[in-house]
Amino acid sequence: MPQLPQAILTVQMRGVWRLKFMKFNPNEETLMDRGPEAHTPELLESYHSSTYAWQPGMTDDDGNPMKLRISKSSLSGFGWCPYQYKANYIYNLSQEETEDMVRGTNVHAIVEHFWDAVKDVKDEAIELLEAGKERQSRRLLKSVIPKPPMPYLLGEDEVIDTWFEWQWNRFKVTQGYNWAAVGNEVSAHASIDVDVDLELEHMIVPVHLRGFIDTIFPDGDGGFVLMELKTGKWTPKKAKSMREEMQFYRLMLEEGNYMKYLPVTHWAWEFPRGWANGGTKAEWELEDTSTRKTSYAPRTVMNNIKKLVKAHITDSFEPAPKTWRGPDGETLTSCQMCSFMEICPAWATDEHEEEEV
Ligand code: SF4
Repeated sequence: MPQLPQAILTVQMRGVWRLKFMKFNPNEETLMDRGPEAHTPELLESYHSSTYAWQPGMTDDDGNPMKLRISKSSLSGFGWCPYQYKANYIYNLSQEETEDMVRGTNVHAIVEHFWDAVKDVKDEAIELLEAGKERQSRRLLKSVIPKPPMPYLLGEDEVIDTWFEWQWNRFKVTQGYNWAAVGNEVSAHASIDVDVDLELEHMIVPVHLRGFIDTIFPDGDGGFVLMELKTGKWTPKKAKSMREEMQFYRLMLEEGNYMKYLPVTHWAWEFPRGWANGGTKAEWELEDTSTRKTSYAPRTVMNNIKKLVKAHITDSFEPAPKTWRGPDGETLTSCQMCSFMEICPAWATDEHEEEEV
């Protein structure tokens, strides 16, 4: 059963209720409903013996050692602000849901639905294209994108339209061959041992890697292309962090022995709303994973994993506020968008100092 649309009301000035968010997911299940979905019993067991709140020496109820669980989001969250990571993943506190999060979830739900549903019409769309009936072919492909029962509120239509145009252009170039995703929201797991050098000792810490890969495409030559969809702004500087995110996915597939998606020969990202918030433009990029430009990514990602493991061992999660210039030259801070200011040591007021003043 597709999910029912979820509307979130918010009260505005003078007590008037207004619709704030509208969530629409046409898929049978949400990613959360799908559960761990590991492809081997060993990986499922490894997942169940892992926790984000890991501490050295931690065991489960039967006395078995626990592993540190790391996802792409938890790793990048730690890189963004270690204290925010601690609040989110160790204290298990939730960030307030933002418009960006709702928009991203709605667009991802449509893209997931598209790659599942397009299988039913793809062959007919190829026949129409080959017969020179381009408009009908395009209309048929687009018909699998469902309209929500009430209008989107956050500009999702425009983002979905841009994304669809990219898929349509690629369909025309490829004539539909090796065009469709072979992996759609792929649930991936891996278990690795991480060597960490501490001041006086060396530790080997078992880690469980966990994540969903947006889409995987065939490269037409026996290899695979990992694709990540983002609904935020795009600037060329983001390529570095995107490579690291994609390398995390590749590491999961390789260490988890997902042979049906190996080797990973390319990775790609698409930003159909890349123009937003001072971004340059809607953009997508494809990179060969064997070039010098991408060769640093495996070591960088492993170093980032080691830093996170070390922070857990030493219980060191310092707040790291960041500031930058907004699209109109205004100063923005990471803390303005953070739900944890009230508990964050970076914002703690010194009562004695206040009394002295
Ligand atoms: S308030 Fe700022 S420094 Fe503190 S946890 Fe949030 S982002 Fe980090």
